[in-house]
Amino acid sequence: NQRVVLAKRPVGRPDPNDFRLEQSSVPSPGEGEVLLKVEYLSLDPYMRGRMSDAKSYAEPVAVGATMVGGTVARVVESRHPDYAEGDLVLSYSGWQRYALSDGSGLRRLDPKLPPTTALGVLGMPGFTAYSGLLTIGRPRPGETVVVAAASGPVGSAVGQIARIKGARAVGIAGGAEKCRLLREHFGFDVALDHRAPDFAAQLAQACPDGIDVYFENVGGKVWDAVLPLLNEFARVPVCGLIAQYNAHGRAEGEDRLPAVMYAVLSRSLTLRGFIQREFVAEQFPSFLRDMGGWVESGEVRYLEDVVDGLENAPGAFIGLLEGANLGKLIVRL
Ligand code: NDP
Repeated sequence: NQRVVLAKRPVGRPDPNDFRLEQSSVPSPGEGEVLLKVEYLSLDPYMRGRMSDAKSYAEPVAVGATMVGGTVARVVESRHPDYAEGDLVLSYSGWQRYALSDGSGLRRLDPKLPPTTALGVLGMPGFTAYSGLLTIGRPRPGETVVVAAASGPVGSAVGQIARIKGARAVGIAGGAEKCRLLREHFGFDVALDHRAPDFAAQLAQACPDGIDVYFENVGGKVWDAVLPLLNEFARVPVCGLIAQYNAHGRAEGEDRLPAVMYAVLSRSLTLRGFIQREFVAEQFPSFLRDMGGWVESGEVRYLEDVVDGLENAPGAFIGLLEGANLGKLIVRL
């Protein structure tokens, strides 16, 4: 077996030496277990949080333990009544080639769909966009919806669902190539580069009627540019804050909290954080039906960035936190 373990906890930006590639023997399944061979591993921003021991909504990965992660895997040996050799499943096997499972948390995948979609547009990131936007953001026809990290699996789905609901979608991404993708591949009404020196002015110009829904994926400078543009009764699903995941120590500069609180009060803003799993039991079936239909009809498009080889997972993950990925980042084993 081959696996990637957490070698040490990163300080700031993760370093390749924070990970270690290890070899071991392939385990054999006991009664009631299956042996899984991982075909695709999903790399997601939340993994940065698991590498740290700061208090969070989920347990950290222990130093020396296999990095966690969602996977698409093939059952190669089964001693479980519900699974047969050859079944393709969604599992949470982590950064390794082979894993055992007692069946809990496995979901059999529809063989008619491309397997990688279960990690992106029809999986956790797509569901995050769907549940957060429709439950908290609630875009109405004619409203303006803004989202950053807009070429990734969450942001691209947010923009496209917003348009299906009749809203105007403004996408923010890093660099000209991603902005072109936002317009040409994902159909955003406007695409803006957050690295442009006059980004805040460009955003104001792109939102002449203000912002009704800001789907927060990044924080930092993007949030600073958005805050003055939020309309009365605007909704802000707080989904992610990737601009600060690698931060350590206290942020520099002035304390912006009083200004944020004043905006929340005076403009009756709704800021509501969420972790997608709170909506899974209630909304996952409707998500699969709606999103499955939109993907099939071409109303929702997706983009995947597939990297080959488990040994390349650490480098690809470090790049994800800084925007090196172009679409949903997946490792093919
Ligand atoms: P992406 O594939 O979009 O990758 C992250 C992107 O963030 C990078 O490609 C980069 O794009 C952008 N980024 C990084 N740093 C900055 C910065 N300082 N300012 C602006 N943009 C930055 O990731 P996902 O679609 O998987 O995830 C998007 C967000 O959703 C993340 O914050 C993630 O943590 C969150 N999330 C939350 C969930 C929940 O349940 N609450 C579940 C799943 C995801 P660019 O080149 O455009 O800058």
